[in-house]
Amino acid sequence: MTLLDGDEPLPPDLVMSVKDLKVWYGTARGPVRAVDGVSFDIRRGETLGLVGESGSGKSTLGRGVLGLLPDAAEVSGKVLFRGRDRVTMKRRALRSLRGPELGLIFQEPMTRLNPLMRISDHFFETLHTHERGLSKTQMRKRAIDTLGAMGIPPTRFTNYPHEFSGGMRQRIMIALALVLNPAFVVADEPTTALDVLVEAQIIGILNDIKRNFDTSILLITHNLGIIAEACERVAVMYAGRIAEQGDARAVFARPAHPYTRELLASTISLSTTELHYIPGAPPDLIHPPSGCRFHPRCPDAMRVCPTRHPPTVVTELNQKVDCWLHGPDQLIPPGGKESLEREAIGVADEA
Ligand code: ATP
Ligand code: SF4
Ligand code: MG
Repeated sequence: MTLLDGDEPLPPDLVMSVKDLKVWYGTARGPVRAVDGVSFDIRRGETLGLVGESGSGKSTLGRGVLGLLPDAAEVSGKVLFRGRDRVTMKRRALRSLRGPELGLIFQEPMTRLNPLMRISDHFFETLHTHERGLSKTQMRKRAIDTLGAMGIPPTRFTNYPHEFSGGMRQRIMIALALVLNPAFVVADEPTTALDVLVEAQIIGILNDIKRNFDTSILLITHNLGIIAEACERVAVMYAGRIAEQGDARAVFARPAHPYTRELLASTISLSTTELHYIPGAPPDLIHPPSGCRFHPRCPDAMRVCPTRHPPTVVTELNQKVDCWLHGPDQLIPPGGKESLEREAIGVADEA
């Protein structure tokens, strides 16, 4: 593909690179800083899990990288997809990319499937919009093959949405997102409305997609168990920013950010019957806390934390973490945390 003027080539192993993305929603009380300076990469054929409490900006981020935000949203930063900058790309070019190259799997399939249209018509409409050259026979074959890969038999092709169970409807939604063979898909809470057995099936399907179609997936979920089963890497979001990101197993084994640690502790574990809640509530994103946004709830907060946002530091396990406990190296003096309290104040950084 030819690069447009001003586009940056991406390394061949990357499908998407997001740099300092901000999405602010205008409201009467002031802008909601739903995504506020987020950077991450997605590699070819990998699933990146995006986890965080309700209202932390996960869906906004997922929609932002697809260019699916309401007009009132103010967006800045870069989303490089195959070398194109999607944030500055013209709307028409964005639309033409969305179907064939980028897909979205929604949380509630029933609200996205038209109850008056047969499943076959949903597929014909999608294929007709994005691949105009296909004959009806070719469209039918593509649709039935993709549905078959999701375990929906050809005999159900002309059924209406209400004739399927919730789990089957979700699989139909996944097939609709995949029938154009996109390079990158955002799956926003794809299993939330489903029971545990169906949830396991959907996770299995997402893993198959990755293997068989080489699709990259941004998987948004509240559920750390799903991340562990389906994701190579994880990004932990707090109040519009990514607190920590890295290899999923490394992050689970040695969380570097106190918020990740608290989030892991709040997940029900087989070894304990006690449920741990993170004290306090997520902040108001119109007036987020100063410095590190987690400081009002952080058990490790230091004097520096409310004054300056910590810079991103890479740990020895290659985790990227925004927390003063981790440096940067030149700021961690031999005296440890106590001297950090004295020395870190006054370090020039964004407020
Ligand atoms: P959940 O886990 O509940 O789905 P989330 O992490 O996906 O939450 P978002 O839906 O992205 O969070 O919302 C982030 C913040 O942006 C919230 O404070 C939300 O109220 C606000 N927000 C979302 N959409 C809009 C909008 N269209 N206008 C104004 N504020 C919005
Ligand atoms: Fe806690 Fe400070 Fe680290 Fe923020 S920067 S997570 S307040 S220790
Ligand atoms: Mg959401």
